[in-house]
Amino acid sequence: MTFIRDKLQTIGANIKHFSRKYQRSTNTVNLLAVSKRHGADKIREAYEAGQIAFGENYVQELLEKYNQLSDLNIEWHFIGPLQSNKTKKVAETVSWVHTIDRFKIAKKLSDQRPEKLPPLSVCIQVNISDENSKSGVSIQNLPILAEEISALSGINLRGLMVIPSAEKDFENQREVFAKVVDLQKQLNKQGFNIDTLSMGMSDDMEAAIAEGATIVRIGTAIFGSRE
Ligand SMILES: *Cc1c(COP(=O)(O)O)cnc(C)c1O
Repeated sequence: MTFIRDKLQTIGANIKHFSRKYQRSTNTVNLLAVSKRHGADKIREAYEAGQIAFGENYVQELLEKYNQLSDLNIEWHFIGPLQSNKTKKVAETVSWVHTIDRFKIAKKLSDQRPEKLPPLSVCIQVNISDENSKSGVSIQNLPILAEEISALSGINLRGLMVIPSAEKDFENQREVFAKVVDLQKQLNKQGFNIDTLSMGMSDDMEAAIAEGATIVRIGTAIFGSRE
């Protein structure tokens, strides 16, 4: 057994354990392997161990790996900040973008999504706890952004994504994630169909699963530390 295979197995077992502990239905929590600043060889190794979904933060790096690994059937997720002059390649290569926080980017991705591909699945990134963070739409502006985005034909609004500010206390972690679930419920009451919550990383995965995460994003615990 290889190193990465072991790590994936451990994380998979943890996800299963927490899913049972918090009565989540089976297989509703998916692992996104965050591979930023790790080489294509490591991604290949994880893929061969059964991991299909990988998350990248930088467009240039995504494209290099996309080309190096074109023989594999990887599901690519873009999870980094996205500038409007870099949307085209992202629209052409990934299945998911987690970090939509303004209409301009969503519109470009929708317009640039190739017609032969299914609509791009997207999450709106919500600025849930860090008022100083520049990433993420405010809670106040979320409904209007959701409304605008849902009119676009090249993308499909699937979820909400958050990166809460670091918080050690388990109950406090849960409280933040519970707020995201509230936002999801409010949107769905207004007729949206939000079925994805991209939340939870290495240090707050249990709290995220307890509240309803459907995608947990894990990097270091799989691939080791980054340069
Ligand atoms: C890097 C990153 C992760 C993974 O972080 P690790 O600490 O390596 O597990 C998850 N989500 C986002 C948005 C990231 O940028």
